[in-house]
Amino acid sequence: MPGLIPQEIIDRILDANDIAEIISGYIPLKRAGRNFRALCPFHHEKTPSFMVSPDRQIYHCFGCGAGGNVFSFLMKYERMEFPEAVEMLAKKVGIAIPKTEAPEKNAGVTEKLFTINELAGKFYHDILFNSKEVGSIRVYLEKRGITPETAKKFKLGFAPDKWDTLLNYLRGKNFSLSLIDKSGLVSSRDDASGYYDRFRDRIIFPIFDIKDRIVAFGARVTKDTLPKYINSPETPIYVKGKNLYGLNFTKDEIRKQDAVVVVEGYLDFIIPYQAGIRNIVASLGTALTIEQIRILKRYTQNAVILFDPDLAGELATLRSLDLFLSQDMNVKLVTLPKGFDPDSFVREKGVDKLKELINESVDLFDYKLNLLKNKYDMRKAQGKAKIAGEMLSTISRIKNEVIKESYLKKLSDILSVREDTLLKELSKVKDGMSSIDYESISSDSKTFNAKAVEKMVVKLMLEQEDLISQLRERLEVSDFQDPHIKKIVCSMLDLNSQGKKIEVSRLMNNFDDQEICDTLTHLCLSEECREIDKQKAFDDCVNRIKQENIKEKRNQLRGEIKIAETQGNKDRLNQLIQEYNCLIKR
Ligand SMILES: [Zn+2]
Repeated sequence: MPGLIPQEIIDRILDANDIAEIISGYIPLKRAGRNFRALCPFHHEKTPSFMVSPDRQIYHCFGCGAGGNVFSFLMKYERMEFPEAVEMLAKKVGIAIPKTEAPEKNAGVTEKLFTINELAGKFYHDILFNSKEVGSIRVYLEKRGITPETAKKFKLGFAPDKWDTLLNYLRGKNFSLSLIDKSGLVSSRDDASGYYDRFRDRIIFPIFDIKDRIVAFGARVTKDTLPKYINSPETPIYVKGKNLYGLNFTKDEIRKQDAVVVVEGYLDFIIPYQAGIRNIVASLGTALTIEQIRILKRYTQNAVILFDPDLAGELATLRSLDLFLSQDMNVKLVTLPKGFDPDSFVREKGVDKLKELINESVDLFDYKLNLLKNKYDMRKAQGKAKIAGEMLSTISRIKNEVIKESYLKKLSDILSVREDTLLKELSKVKDGMSSIDYESISSDSKTFNAKAVEKMVVKLMLEQEDLISQLRERLEVSDFQDPHIKKIVCSMLDLNSQGKKIEVSRLMNNFDDQEICDTLTHLCLSEECREIDKQKAFDDCVNRIKQENIKEKRNQLRGEIKIAETQGNKDRLNQLIQEYNCLIKR
């Protein structure tokens, strides 16, 4: 979340606004002790589980797990970007946000890289449309069904079959070699004797960000050579998996239709778009990343995935779609007939046929269930268990309790297994997200649930601040396993060492990841560990984490000892055994 707005200004804006007042402007809040309660605006429910804490200046929904501070609420409710939410609240309380004029060098570099990309995009585009030598490429595009208007709209281009056309052009515009190198448009020679154009003899697809700026390029061959596509590497302005191709052109339509069609490649996007499907994006990768899904969620909660028929039968591909559910999105799937992708399907069968398929898309749950029914024998207990396990892992991702329950019912009917049996299994699938159970973390419990224990440590530190300095003396951040908890602990230690008081609503601004905020607010607003002695609980947790780390280290050493033995490496072996003995003493 951190942007160019100075931290202290963000903190001032946060302090000057009251979360209960802001949220009550959108939904009616009812007093419930120290907190307010409401029906959650982010999921459908009949009994209120959405809590707002004026003390902590945070909200959390115990139904769907959403949580955050007043900024995150506006981002989610109004579908704003972080800076927009900050600006809106700043205006409300009359705090001026100073215009930052790129204090760091990097900001200047970013601007220059956008300029380079803009120029390169125009350069390639001009070649495609004006160069006599590439007439055959224009014919090729038309044969592929791309009209000149479409090619112009998406600023398609062509990189000639030479080593330094673009390089010379950009040098002529007085950009330094190191800057051109940073843009990813050139590669350096293996013997470090200079640079050459990355894209040669390829059709160029500029990749835009949401503000219509070119952040990177994709390039496709026109012949049968491989690889078919190459892309820009990651650069200071381009991180893979954080963009959706075409979203800048289609975001309004996605919002309007409240649904998005997700395809994979450039042409799978362009051809259907040209034919009239305007609520579409391309992932530019087989599996969507959580960042991409979060971006989509700002515009709609309904996604239809157009599947590559070769991958449609793969469980692994389906599992990757569970990510949508964890983000509270509805996912439906369309499988195209074998041998087709969205591009070729539209060209051969027409866009209306594709629209028909989209209308008949199947819910992820049913799709997966059908696949499993074909794979395993439902009449046998083993088969049932396999199907149940696989389906429950999907169901466990669903945050909405109503939807979850209806799916459980369905699964219970189909498998003829009692619902409470499935519920029991479901609780095993869960990873300690939903509840923090003190019993499960006490040292004599057989199974170690790292996430639950680590969460408990954070909860205790949030409730009793002096525990933070104790933690510093007894554990390293690397002793924690969960990557989210690691980040939280790191921030808490940091603030604490600066002598700052931990305020959750502020702490949250340090994290880009919505899930971290959800976790934090859950920890804060879930019931306080009142009945137990906090110091003792803390000691237990810390010891448990230590033990687990020693165990882990021991296993690792055992492995290394074996290797040293087989290699007959005596010195190494002695050293390892010594280490091992030390560990055991601890
Ligand atoms: Zn909710």
